[in-house]
Amino acid sequence: MMRGWHPNVRRASPVVTLSLAFLPLAAVVTDTSAAQSPRTIYISADMEGIAGLSDTQDAVGRRLMTLEVNAAVVGAFEGGATSVVVNDAHGSHANLLQEDLDPRARLLRGSLKPYGMMQGLEASHAGVVFIGYHGRAGSLGSFAAHTGSGRVADLRVNGRSVGEGGMNLLYAAWYRVPVIFVSGDDVAVQQVREMVPGVTGVPVKTGIWNSAVVTLSPDSARAAIRRGVADAVREIASRPQRPGSPFNVELEYASSLFADIAEGIAGVERRGPTTVAFSDNEYPAAYRMIRVLYKHLQP
Ligand SMILES: [Zn+2]
Repeated sequence: MMRGWHPNVRRASPVVTLSLAFLPLAAVVTDTSAAQSPRTIYISADMEGIAGLSDTQDAVGRRLMTLEVNAAVVGAFEGGATSVVVNDAHGSHANLLQEDLDPRARLLRGSLKPYGMMQGLEASHAGVVFIGYHGRAGSLGSFAAHTGSGRVADLRVNGRSVGEGGMNLLYAAWYRVPVIFVSGDDVAVQQVREMVPGVTGVPVKTGIWNSAVVTLSPDSARAAIRRGVADAVREIASRPQRPGSPFNVELEYASSLFADIAEGIAGVERRGPTTVAFSDNEYPAAYRMIRVLYKHLQP
């Protein structure tokens, strides 16, 4: 599907195929393995943690997000990626300026998508890159900190408080794809690092409380992201363990209203005035339910 642009997988002409038959076996094997080891990097891009922004409605927001994603795409190819998938993962999921995106990337765009911020990730992918990430709900000093939506006070998976970075890295871990890079504000980077100790992180801004920032210039951020992603792709060493089942999820809402609605869903249990819980053995199914609970309930 993605192969059209890739020079190594053009179909060989019959003449070339015949001539290969006369080459020494070792030469043929080496050539084939180089051409057949695809290394796809998956990028999940949010907006709050993009350098230069103190408002996601800023007129230049979509442009800055696109250029920062492009820096990651360039870095991925420099590090040895053979293809890159970009998932627009903020708000409408239709923020990236299609025409300005690095033409080598394949774009997932629009909403709804069943797996939201991680739609399109496949077990065959070599690594996951988070761009523009922000801190989890309740984080102080993280610009626009939230988890999924403003409705959530806290989200816990097996007792651990997770933000979007945490819930998305568990999704990647389920498919045993390593999260290799994260950029965003310093709190977002720190929160991913707590769960993926070796991850390469590039903090591009720091929150002043939750609605103002000290930020790198977009140019400096892009240069650091390009370098960081290239290094991270070069250094991919192993696949993470699949996290153990079951996944016990507790979602604490900011208001009891959504808990009132959610407790009517089969399998969802009321734990308190603002808290509901459920359990699932399959993380992708749990991930979908979390998204329903924080995003799609209507009073
Ligand atoms: Zn977000």
